Amino acid sequence: MNSDPLIERMRPFGTTIFSEMSALAVRTGAVNLGQGFPDTDGPPEMLAAAAQALADGANQYPPLPGIPVLRRAITEHEQRFWGLTRDPDTEVVVTAGATEAIAATILALCEPGDEVVCFEPYYDSYAASITLAGAVRRPVTLRPEPDGRYRFDEAELRAAFGPRTRLVLLNSPHNPTGKVFTPDELALIAGLCQEYDTYAVTDEVYEHLVFGVPHTPLATLPGMRERTLRISSAGKTFSCTGWKVGWATGPARLVSAVLRVKQFLTFVNASPLQPAVAVALGLPDSYFSGFTAGLRANRDRLVAGLTEAGFGVLPPEGTYFVTADIRPLGGTDGVEFCRELPGRCGVVAVPTQVFYDHREAGRHLIRFAFCKRPEVVDEAVERLRKLAPGVPRGQ
Ligand SMILES: *Cc1c(COP(=O)(O)O)cnc(C)c1O
Repeated sequence: MNSDPLIERMRPFGTTIFSEMSALAVRTGAVNLGQGFPDTDGPPEMLAAAAQALADGANQYPPLPGIPVLRRAITEHEQRFWGLTRDPDTEVVVTAGATEAIAATILALCEPGDEVVCFEPYYDSYAASITLAGAVRRPVTLRPEPDGRYRFDEAELRAAFGPRTRLVLLNSPHNPTGKVFTPDELALIAGLCQEYDTYAVTDEVYEHLVFGVPHTPLATLPGMRERTLRISSAGKTFSCTGWKVGWATGPARLVSAVLRVKQFLTFVNASPLQPAVAVALGLPDSYFSGFTAGLRANRDRLVAGLTEAGFGVLPPEGTYFVTADIRPLGGTDGVEFCRELPGRCGVVAVPTQVFYDHREAGRHLIRFAFCKRPEVVDEAVERLRKLAPGVPRGQ
């Protein structure tokens, strides 16, 4: 027998870069702006509701698609913010975070050999889920332009579609670039989905994190509702990434396909957390605008700090990440640069080349997360100053 018990197609997937960089942060005492998790708790109403649910005995298997109260809250939230009307009984499924929703969707919709169009750099679970399904990814590269916005080439997108295309996997607002796809870009994608009769799966976990530009769910474009599964999660919006409560919404026949797979992956998810997420989704608009405003202030401070330190900064329109070009600081390879960064100035970032199939396109780019307390962002900015040309080392 082969000495490696792991199936061959999963062997290229090593442990993630996050583990290596977070370990480095712990070892060196660096400020960790690598992994994207907040360092404060979510809304107190939500936390209290979870504690109450535990005490009240919500501790056994909930229904397969999620508890009715949460499914209703998900549809009301979608109606309130995006004008999408859905049936909470047939058009919603609660999942173990957005991650399970993505995996279950791809496993439910893709036959081996089917193709998935996605945009690179991509969230790391996409490639693994596509591979587990035996499907093939067709990445379209997002490239930073001189104005600081990431764009894709229309011809490259068209060329990625073909007779085996089964679905488009779109993440907007986009991690790691911070790009928010424009209405024109979305219309182009929607047109191709219809021309090739494919599904669309949208990862909108950062739906509330846009800074002065509109977020438009692809499902709201003409002709898209019937072919789109929209995925989101409580983790980012309510600063509870460890809860892993996510969901997918879409037409009943698509949700039903996802349910078929999901019931054998996890069956159901965290019953006491479900009523709590329902409470959070129903919070007044001021919660959502306050959350965005706080992160926007963090973004502005980190973008200014990185610029001052000498990076080529690509200011994000959404999410809680900012990417930066290391070449103005003499760097050529992001992995090398990130390994040395804690020693040089006591800050951890992650190289984004690991999220590309065409690694060369992202070799010079690294990502910083700003979902941290303002004083932590300020401390990182202070430390990054040491990189600025003209500031003597050790000062
Ligand atoms: C964090 C993240 C996820 C995972 O969400 P969970 O709810 O924690 O599973 C999925 N997609 C993107 C783009 C993310 O940044």
